Amino acid sequence: MSKIWYLSPSCQGTNVGINGYGTEQEQMYLLADAIIPHLDRAGVSFILADRDASLSRRVTESNGAGAGFHLCLHSNAGGGGKAWGPVALYYSSAGEAFGRKLVDALLALGQANNRSYNLKQQQGLYELRRTAAPACLLEVDFHDSAVGVEFLTKRRGEIAEAIAKVIIEADGKQFVPVTAGEYADEAVRLGLFPPDTNWQTAMTCEAAAELAVKLIHKMKRGE
Ligand SMILES: [Zn+2]
Repeated sequence: MSKIWYLSPSCQGTNVGINGYGTEQEQMYLLADAIIPHLDRAGVSFILADRDASLSRRVTESNGAGAGFHLCLHSNAGGGGKAWGPVALYYSSAGEAFGRKLVDALLALGQANNRSYNLKQQQGLYELRRTAAPACLLEVDFHDSAVGVEFLTKRRGEIAEAIAKVIIEADGKQFVPVTAGEYADEAVRLGLFPPDTNWQTAMTCEAAAELAVKLIHKMKRGE
């Protein structure tokens, strides 16, 4: 099932976390920036909300584009410094099913969690209520607790990969590891592999021999 994902990181530029976290908006756009390369490599279509777009503009864009899913990325406040763990808020059962996968993926990273619930129906929130697509608002962790901030900032790359994998799977696509993507691009640029190489297939001995000889010739030429 291929669809357009609408990514809506927090626009709360005045919601500041502790321990140098900065703002929720800043951190959630950094998270989105880390998620997007995974979606690009997997061929997932998405729209990223403009940083300063209002909630109503985001909903209008999401509905206008016929988004298949609307995902809001947030960090949580109001835990009094003693709360940590992910919470997914949803409107419909489709949003709940996706939220459950997100929460499970985060907890599988070993994220510390002291919540009595990690999933909650919340039909009052504007972006959940007014979007035509199933929607989920993920509170990745609490930015007012040291435990939450440590997870949000130190493990951003892992969080991004975990969220991206849930999206990619729901989209019916294959996750492409980041290192493979980077090395593949570089190998094509160096002329070691043709641009139409299928990177998911195993290498034959003949291809390995070709690569080895190309490398030796390159080294002899001092490239
Ligand atoms: Zn928020």
